[in-house]
Amino acid sequence: MNIKSIKKILKGRIRENVCMKEYNTWKIGGSAQYFFEPSNLDDLKKFLENSSNIDIIFLGNGSNVLIRDGGINGCVVSLKNTLNNYTSNKKGKYIFEAGFSCMKIAQITAKDNYGGLEFLCGIPGSLGGALAMNAGCYGGNIWDYVNKVIMINKNGNLVTKNKREFKYGYRNLELEDNNFFIGATFNLQENQLKNSLDIIKEYLKDRRSKQPTGLPSCGSVFKNPENYHAANLIESSGLKNYKIGKAYISDKHANFIITEPSASSSDVEDLIEFIQKTVFENKNIFLETEVKFIGIKK
Ligand SMILES: Cc1cc2nc3c(=O)[nH]c(=O)nc-3n(C[C@H](O)[C@H](O)[C@H](O)COP(=O)(O)OP(=O)(O)OC[C@H]3O[C@@H](n4cnc5c(N)ncnc54)[C@H](O)[C@@H]3O)c2cc1C
Repeated sequence: MNIKSIKKILKGRIRENVCMKEYNTWKIGGSAQYFFEPSNLDDLKKFLENSSNIDIIFLGNGSNVLIRDGGINGCVVSLKNTLNNYTSNKKGKYIFEAGFSCMKIAQITAKDNYGGLEFLCGIPGSLGGALAMNAGCYGGNIWDYVNKVIMINKNGNLVTKNKREFKYGYRNLELEDNNFFIGATFNLQENQLKNSLDIIKEYLKDRRSKQPTGLPSCGSVFKNPENYHAANLIESSGLKNYKIGKAYISDKHANFIITEPSASSSDVEDLIEFIQKTVFENKNIFLETEVKFIGIKK
């Protein structure tokens, strides 16, 4: 089906030529050819069943993507404001939909005093994005706590998969193309030692003291190489505050790149490449990006 015909059978909005600056935390990037906000799971299924000729990319909160200035061909499916329900059996079993905010997952499970997911409290993404990235911090990674995931493929087929069917590691998940998360189940244990809400308070305090929270960023741009901290390597290469165009390295945390209003994606990408080149020349270590690059260069 073409987009005009698909629009007629859907409840959610499909828009054309949508500026992506609003949909990522760096506030940069070109436009998506199509942008779909499904109103619910049925709507998403219907869309996928009828859009086999269109390239699809799923986005959550856009907090770990660099969307290039030339924009995105195909359709962005945004779960930012949708698929955000959850259920709990009050005995530690939770099912969250993929659009659910990580921060809220931490709050909800902590209020019930079920432990494990407190680390999600400062991660400004969706569950779907966290699963795709194996998001984590303070010693926790989301896949350590997943029980099952519910997925949808490019043809709109739903399938539940067990955690053991996936290979995952530090900020990495092997995911077949054209398979997307729509939810996950967790079996959590009651917290015996320390109150979960107190743990969250400590994590948030620590984050505020070390990271430039409140400024447009994508969190840590680079993965930590084994036995090193990317931030230390960048800082000791003399790069704190280094700026290209309207993008600069934070002086509070050198693994954060901050954008100023009207920054372009190429400012950020050029700065990323400059950091990689400089750190390699100084330390003989290549910094691999954590952030995912999407779209076309201008
Ligand atoms: C201030 C700040 C602090 C941060 N701190 C941390 C941290 O401590 N630890 C950490 O790990 N990360 C951190 N991040 C990065 C980011 O928040 C996480 O990686 C988060 O999990 C990304 O979720 P998202 O919904 O924003 O994903 P997006 O940025 O929207 O997408 C990221 C990737 O996931 C894919 N994706 C998104 N949704 C789905 C889906 N439903 N199915 C399949 N693929 C999907 C996208 O295509 C893309 O490749 C931080 C970011 C910021 C801005």
